[in-house]
Amino acid sequence: MILICMPVMAEGGGGGDGSGMGDGGNTDISSVSSGLLSPQFILGGLVALAGLILLRTTKINWNIRTLLMCAVFVLFGVLVIMHQPSPLRAVVDPVTALVTGSAITLKKTTALIFIGGLSVIGAKLFCGWVCPFGALQEIVNRIPAPSGKKIKLPFNISNGIRISIFVISFIMILATGIDLYTYHNILNPFELFDWHFELVLAVLVGAVLVASVFVYRPFCYLVCPVGLLTWLLEHVSIFRVRLDQGKCNDCNKCIRMSPCPSVKAIVDCDNVRPDCFACGVCIDACPTDALTFGIGKTKAGRSRDLESGD
Ligand code: SF4
Ligand code: SF4
Repeated sequence: MILICMPVMAEGGGGGDGSGMGDGGNTDISSVSSGLLSPQFILGGLVALAGLILLRTTKINWNIRTLLMCAVFVLFGVLVIMHQPSPLRAVVDPVTALVTGSAITLKKTTALIFIGGLSVIGAKLFCGWVCPFGALQEIVNRIPAPSGKKIKLPFNISNGIRISIFVISFIMILATGIDLYTYHNILNPFELFDWHFELVLAVLVGAVLVASVFVYRPFCYLVCPVGLLTWLLEHVSIFRVRLDQGKCNDCNKCIRMSPCPSVKAIVDCDNVRPDCFACGVCIDACPTDALTFGIGKTKAGRSRDLESGD
């Protein structure tokens, strides 16, 4: 899983002609190999692996998570030698190429397969542990809201907006050959990591960061096409947050402590649940160890009171 990660980050994709697809249909295996051996790859893989181990051993807590998110942001977002990690382009560019009939590079395909593969191995292991813009939003979300209360967006609404943006972008590609996200980078904050400071980008990133004080990962839940893809895939992930119903005492501490809108759906064993970014807060909060980042089906026990008061 680690090995496929790095083309996403090594390739970047920002800047230039902005397409990331016009490099002559490069299918040179050696260029992929050199990407896989880059520092970004090794570090990204180690961080994802560390996340999985911490979640599996329930060693994750708020302080460790915050430190690791700062490290992810600095390593893959700030340091120039790491260039631009652009998971957004890894998803959008192949869609554009498919619709327009242009060539898809091996590296682009590898990046897309990697994000999908990592998400199937562990729910949101890429988004939750490797993406620098996800990490930045999560760090800002640690700032206390002036009202003292964070907002959890109704998932039906946030996901409806995210799907609508994707559909509009798809129609735009059909009509013009250009996608909505990277059109003047109006919805592409990943350009930030390529040190592009245009006005529209500054407005977008500023708005997302302000919103992040109040809402957990607003860009991920409302806009990002990678978030949409990995949300679909996390429903079949091997490792994901699972409930042992026999251990759950209905205290709902996990729901109250979590920053996301996902935990109630998890403890209610809903088939469709909002994005879980594998932060581990609910696992750490549970006083009876009923939640784990585990494998297999949810363990049945007595029925929960679904009027949980969330
Ligand atoms: S959904 Fe969030 S964490 Fe995932 S790629 Fe998009 S910005 Fe990054
Ligand atoms: S608190 Fe939410 S995002 Fe974090 S691990 Fe639990 S369900 Fe996932």
